[in-house]
Amino acid sequence: MNILIAEPSNIFQRALERIFRVYATNVFMATSGTEAMDIYNTVRIDLICVSFYLSDMDGIEFVSDVRKLKFGETIPILMITSKKIQEATVKSLSSGATEIFRKNDLGEIEKFLKIFAEHARQQAQVEGNILLIDKDQKQASDIRAFFKDTHLKFIHFTTAEEAAEITRAAEFDLVITDVVLDGSMTGFALIREIREINETMYRVPILAISAISNVSQKIGLLRAGANDYIQKPVLLEELSVRMKNLLLNKKLFDTVELQKGLLEKMASSDQLTGLYNRHYLSGIVDKAIQESYRYKYPFSVFFVDLDHFKKVNDTYGHPTGDAVLKAVAKLLLQTFRGSDTPIRFGGEEFIILLPHCDGENAVMRAHTLLAQIRALRPASIPISASIGVTQTPQTIQVGSEELFAAADRAVYTAKSNGRNCVVFNEVNFRP
Ligand code: GH3
Ligand code: MG
Ligand code: MG
Repeated sequence: MNILIAEPSNIFQRALERIFRVYATNVFMATSGTEAMDIYNTVRIDLICVSFYLSDMDGIEFVSDVRKLKFGETIPILMITSKKIQEATVKSLSSGATEIFRKNDLGEIEKFLKIFAEHARQQAQVEGNILLIDKDQKQASDIRAFFKDTHLKFIHFTTAEEAAEITRAAEFDLVITDVVLDGSMTGFALIREIREINETMYRVPILAISAISNVSQKIGLLRAGANDYIQKPVLLEELSVRMKNLLLNKKLFDTVELQKGLLEKMASSDQLTGLYNRHYLSGIVDKAIQESYRYKYPFSVFFVDLDHFKKVNDTYGHPTGDAVLKAVAKLLLQTFRGSDTPIRFGGEEFIILLPHCDGENAVMRAHTLLAQIRALRPASIPISASIGVTQTPQTIQVGSEELFAAADRAVYTAKSNGRNCVVFNEVNFRP
């Protein structure tokens, strides 16, 4: 960051330099307006700090001159004064100073600089894929040229139709669109279209550019779904700040979404086996049963309880018991794919939801599963299971409570029948 300080007093020059050095790559010093202007015209300056009085002119005059120069319109200019702040503020700000600070409160400048530098650092790091829709080829190439040394990548179209098509296939971090475009679709229609595509595109920030100065149209753009608006002719510095604010917000939002997804996954899966857990089951099972009734397909459930598992732990140790549970879970994941959902209900008990499977088929599949469990012999340990099977009755609509009670009774019967077997049980209900 290159900073220009225009200050006639040696003492203040040194005081300011000490503060600015912390954040600047180069600090250029001038005592007069003419000297400061020479520096401004030779080096690319990122921030100017100017005194209310200079040796050859007023700071206010210097500010108005800079504002007329190339890039002068957007450069931050800090006015420093020892005058009473109210008096100087109006004059300084109306001449084009960005902010005004008092010479006896340099701490405030330090605060400003800290935030300014942090913003500049974030802006330099921001990255993203940007979809730019602008019928003005010159403006599009100016924008590209301005951001050529950044991590921002642009894809440019002149029509909304082309842009709408690509947004269906690719994801972007930001969309910048003009209102009047080549083709028959306007920027308004494009914004509405993007907002309708899907949830991901609903989140993408949209920055509208337009020559329109009509307030109702500006509000209309925001109402259609644009997040921000920029007036033509586009000042590239302003565009840069607005774009990067939107990109940084999007990045924060994406991080929150990712963390939310991870937390949901953690909360819904069992740590030992990686299977879904009871918490997940309770969140989905009633809806799954209701769907089966609504679309009229059968729905079956297995309750799988490993036999004499306590003995496995007692004989081989708890870690081996864990390895056995993992092996059974792996088998369940391999055996039940697609719409079937295996769940670790707790301890050595598993539940499998089988939509589109009627009771008869479910019993056959349960026998196959039992054979697979017996053939597994994890850590060379012979294991077996008692499997209770039930299905949703067709004549009356039941919920998970009734279904699980029936499967539980089936397991109980299987245990009483000597374990290592499959028992089917109808759901009990009062007609
Ligand atoms: P039954 O044939 O009647 O089902 O007998 P069982 O021993 O399998 O049933 P019981 O309910 O008496 O014991 C279940 C055992 O499962 C007791 C418990 O220590 C063990 N267990 C539960 N969770 C875990 C686990 O995460 N790891 C290990 N190694 N053992 C577990
Ligand atoms: Mg048990
Ligand atoms: Mg058991």
